[in-house]
Amino acid sequence: MAADVLEQLEGLQRVADEIDRLDARRREATEQRDQVAESLSAAQAELGRSEEKAHTIDMERRKRELALKGERDRMARVKSRLGEVKTSREYQAVLTETSSAKQGIADHEEALAKDEQELESITAEVDHIKAKVAGIEEDLAAAERSLAKVAEETDGTVARHRAEESRLLEAMPAAVVDRYRLIRSRRGGLAVVQARDEACTACFMRIPPQMYIEVIRRSKVLQCPNCHRILVPPHPVEVTAEVE
Ligand SMILES: [Zn+2]
Repeated sequence: MAADVLEQLEGLQRVADEIDRLDARRREATEQRDQVAESLSAAQAELGRSEEKAHTIDMERRKRELALKGERDRMARVKSRLGEVKTSREYQAVLTETSSAKQGIADHEEALAKDEQELESITAEVDHIKAKVAGIEEDLAAAERSLAKVAEETDGTVARHRAEESRLLEAMPAAVVDRYRLIRSRRGGLAVVQARDEACTACFMRIPPQMYIEVIRRSKVLQCPNCHRILVPPHPVEVTAEVE
């Protein structure tokens, strides 16, 4: 009876280990995909900000162009009036206005050149971020593909293991199942371990000789006195012939 239960417990741990391993693979692929998706949204937000900045600078530049055109028109008007000047006072007024328009043109030209320079650099920045976004989009597609592949590879196996797990759980005494679950939840998923050379292979603490004998005999469901994991006899060490 105990021997059967111990065998079922071993089977249960084996199946649980497999499920954990496959779940971890799936989780890892999901996390990877999520990370790439996150950096894509960050890059897209960055692109949005840069495009907005480029738009603002472009608007400034257009306004500046209009203002420059206004000053140039004013200059043309003033110059056209030169021919009608009759008094030296009128001449003085034209000179003042000419000089003011000239200054205005110079100021606007300088500011316009600055706007154009800024626009050029922000446009380069936008292009750079666009390329970055495109690269991350490719990474995301690749991450989605590998997640789908992992899911495809693990789905069937996990379902099979879960069925086996349910079969074992139903076949076992409820008290043993409860104990197994409790230990598994408290001991990082590892509830059933081999005893080897009179020691627990999980926590490496020594097992009293009498208890070790009982473990080897599979006569009872025994727990490690230190870590409380369920102990099973050591599996025969597999000897593989090495050809040199
Ligand atoms: Zn132990």
